[in-house]
Amino acid sequence: MKVHSLPADDASCGWFHLSAPRTPRPSHRGHSEAPWVVVGAGFTGLAAARQLALNFPNDEVVLVEAQEVGLGPSGRNAGFAIDLPHDIGAPDYIGDIAVAKIVLKLNLAGQTLLRQQVEANGIDCQMTACGKYQAAVEERGLAVLDAYRGGLDKLEQPYQMLGEQELPQHLGTHFYRRALYTPGAVLVQPSALVKGLADSLPANVTLYERTPILDVDYGYDRTRLTHAGGSITAHRLVLANNSFGQHFGFLQGRMLPIFTYGSITRPLTEEEQARLGGKPYWGAIPADPFGTTVRRTPDHRLLIRNSFSFNPDGRSNPKYLQRFLQRHKASFARRFPMLPNVDFQYTWGGALAMTRNHSGFFGQLAPNVYGALGCNGLGVTRGTITGALLADWLAGQSNDLTDFLLASPGPNANPPQPFLSAGVNLNLMWGQRRAGRES
Ligand SMILES: Cc1cc2nc3c(=O)[nH]c(=O)nc-3n(C[C@H](O)[C@H](O)[C@H](O)COP(=O)(O)OP(=O)(O)OC[C@H]3O[C@@H](n4cnc5c(N)ncnc54)[C@H](O)[C@@H]3O)c2cc1C
Repeated sequence: MKVHSLPADDASCGWFHLSAPRTPRPSHRGHSEAPWVVVGAGFTGLAAARQLALNFPNDEVVLVEAQEVGLGPSGRNAGFAIDLPHDIGAPDYIGDIAVAKIVLKLNLAGQTLLRQQVEANGIDCQMTACGKYQAAVEERGLAVLDAYRGGLDKLEQPYQMLGEQELPQHLGTHFYRRALYTPGAVLVQPSALVKGLADSLPANVTLYERTPILDVDYGYDRTRLTHAGGSITAHRLVLANNSFGQHFGFLQGRMLPIFTYGSITRPLTEEEQARLGGKPYWGAIPADPFGTTVRRTPDHRLLIRNSFSFNPDGRSNPKYLQRFLQRHKASFARRFPMLPNVDFQYTWGGALAMTRNHSGFFGQLAPNVYGALGCNGLGVTRGTITGALLADWLAGQSNDLTDFLLASPGPNANPPQPFLSAGVNLNLMWGQRRAGRES
């Protein structure tokens, strides 16, 4: 079958250009065969390939990536490796306590894996265990924080509620009225991390970059993946290409490639840093899911992330970048009026592979075809742990986390087009408007 849509991320991702350059691994050429082929070198595919290589030390594991490593969604997110569950469908954002406990365990296992790999391989990715602030300014956001506080009590997780007098000592800005600080989140420079993970794969992983798979032929015990320069035949195939899994014939009409957008400033001068005040680095997510994420990075830049668009083909669309840059400027000005002359150096967008019921897919898709797809905006930790657990499960190992993922309902079906686009666009528009000053 022909793969009808290929990844096409914009070239302006700040994290990619600000991390150390590397020479991409060559594209695949000719025809070859391998016991294991993983498609997609984001957090999920990198973790799956690494763990397969460790579990099957005598097998070659081929990892194929359409773009350059670090340029796809895994390299262009806000860099929060989040520990806590946050079920936006539940009144206290924690919901069923047994489920929340296992989600917490999953996220912590993903965080631990990343930390171990960063330490073992000396990956320079600004990893800081500085926690996160969930910050509110509108009444709606304040109510979310109160409800979530109750949920965290139920889950017995530590937090600190900070009021508007205290927050400037943390974030510099006087913009927020309240924030819930939770200490367990880890922040990273995502592109530097992904590049470092790719450059420290075990010796039995062969990575091919800039090798978009254009056609897939599913046989009984072999799958042939064709690209512009030849083909790779897989004995067993692992799909770790997020919403593009649907273009390989699976979970069709069940993924929602919703794009969100980031801008990062130049480094603040020492005088600007003094004017801003607060801690030297931090990360704040919005209480309202349609609001703005803000980070101050260890190299003294400020990041703004907000705005959404629905791109059903999963490809970036340049028309949104200019429009959302204006929003980023307005969001920045609201929060940092003390920094009127600080410009953004880069603006970019990237896909969140959402699903209607916020459930991803984990397990077998067809004979000898497996997948970990649909990370629902939490791929840094979730992608890492689901990739690794899938590789363990393929080696015959399972535990309570694997059982939980295998038993999850998987993504719900979407309504058909054109109702889908109309409904999603309306939802995004309404949500962003309702976020008010939190946007
Ligand atoms: C602006 C932004 C902010 C975000 N913030 C956060 C955050 O703070 N924390 C968090 O946890 N998550 C965040 N996310 C979400 C996170 O980036 C994703 O959940 C994560 O990247 C998913 O990882 P993945 O490896 O499953 O998929 P991806 O990173 O999408 O990797 C899949 C790879 O498959 C490749 N591929 C697709 N089709 C083909 C093909 N035909 N042939 C070969 N290769 C192919 C793609 O090029 C891609 O590199 C954010 C996302 C964005 C865009």
